[in-house]
Amino acid sequence: MAQQSGREIPEMEEPTSPLKILLLSAEVVPFAKTGGLADVAGSLPKAIHTLGHDIRVAMPRYGRIRPEQFNLTRALDTFPVPMDNRTEPAELMQTTLDDNVPVYMIDSVRYFDRDGIYMYPDDAERFIFFCRGVLEAVKRLGWQPDIIHCHDWHTALVPNWLKTIYARDPFFAGAASVYTIHNLAYQGVFGYRVLEIAGIDEYGFVVHPDIVDLNEVVDFMGRGIYFADVINAVSETYAREILTPEFGEKLDPMLRDRSDRLFGVLNGIDLGEFDPATDSYLEANYSLESLDRRLGNKLSLQREAGLRQDPSVPVVGIIARLTDQKGLDLITPIIEALLQHLGAQFVLLGTGEQRYHDFFAGLADRFPDQAGIFLTFNASLARRIYAGSDLFLMPSRFEPCGLGQMIAMRYGSVPVVRAVGGLADTVRDYDPATGEGTGFVFEAYDPMALYTALVRALETYRHQDVWRELQVRCMRQDFSWETSARKYVELYARARAFHAQN
Ligand code: ADP
Repeated sequence: MAQQSGREIPEMEEPTSPLKILLLSAEVVPFAKTGGLADVAGSLPKAIHTLGHDIRVAMPRYGRIRPEQFNLTRALDTFPVPMDNRTEPAELMQTTLDDNVPVYMIDSVRYFDRDGIYMYPDDAERFIFFCRGVLEAVKRLGWQPDIIHCHDWHTALVPNWLKTIYARDPFFAGAASVYTIHNLAYQGVFGYRVLEIAGIDEYGFVVHPDIVDLNEVVDFMGRGIYFADVINAVSETYAREILTPEFGEKLDPMLRDRSDRLFGVLNGIDLGEFDPATDSYLEANYSLESLDRRLGNKLSLQREAGLRQDPSVPVVGIIARLTDQKGLDLITPIIEALLQHLGAQFVLLGTGEQRYHDFFAGLADRFPDQAGIFLTFNASLARRIYAGSDLFLMPSRFEPCGLGQMIAMRYGSVPVVRAVGGLADTVRDYDPATGEGTGFVFEAYDPMALYTALVRALETYRHQDVWRELQVRCMRQDFSWETSARKYVELYARARAFHAQN
């Protein structure tokens, strides 16, 4: 297993004593969520805690996080956070995840007492304040982390600081950094001014001979990659893909330079939360032992979506942000053929780009009893689509990990996916000759390739005994966090070894 760069993590001795891990994320379930990052930051710490480590989570206290709702208590009196050539006051609040993982929240009226989470003109300054506040807070608490685990661009300056302004601070001397890339497409790119705010202007831009823009912008994601002791992406395939120009979002030359420190660790899903046997949003609960009951969910989904209620008509579901990443431009050319020639029903839940809203709203008008379109965000309806659809579509252009296909499989909806990123790592193509596989996988980014996969899927669906076996195999897949948490602990050991070398 001694491979590198985006493949398996080379084996290392497991840490003998519990590690102290500080995990920083801009969003954490159940406190604030806009995407998969929040799911990871809410679930991974619980799994790492179960392995015996002292992991603590830090995030901003956004205005929408009501102290009384989450039992927030004050952990520190107001303290100053260096920002630019001044200091800003911060408060530190505290609560827990599942009563045992401490969660620190940096509070500031100026930066976080707003309705939303992101998309403010001062986002760079807000997250600099958050991260710097966290480092200052743990110093005041006297809690010295062995590992600082950062996620996505919002927290990417921490590894940069550890190698610059905090490099000679004995408090952080033993702290190794791990930087997790959830989606390389969102890099957090700002101007020179943010270096002054972050107190690292004297070090200037990070330059790279093969990335021309870097000498005139501050790319937070790039800095996380450049300075972290260890980097990982959220699936092994994505960790390999981002080394190429096609997926590297212009940072592939830097990633290639650091490929000995780049690994892939697949996300898990919270099996307690996503369990068709107990999910209270469903019409009928079911499990492998009572799979027949699943039909109740299909019929109720057909009713909820205004489709003809018919157990024999295959229902194809999709739940996604309506952006190019999700492969919607592969769906639009073939969707009418799917409905008219292949006779399927289609249910879509998502929000995003206006052109897709317009397209799918038009589709619903033209095919009212075959296309159920929900252009909204609705977590309970999402569960009913996972439980009521026969097939689940994820034809992504790129997919760092993808949670949808894993949840779909857990709920017995068979995935139709493109072989990229985490989709390639979690779905095996169905082979009628051997009866093996867990879904329908296609390679080319081409509408006909998707259509062909759908034809194969719908042909297989006609043989209900074969289909049942396929569903059972999907539901038996292990997507628990425990496996991934163990890999992260290995990664932490790796980061400490790299840190010790520096
Ligand atoms: P990404 O993080 O790129 O958006 P993932 O597949 O990793 O994609 O995770 C998306 C998660 O958000 C899934 O759990 C999916 O069910 C959920 N989701 C996406 N869009 C919606 C929506 N409109 N309503 C409810 N849940 C949604």
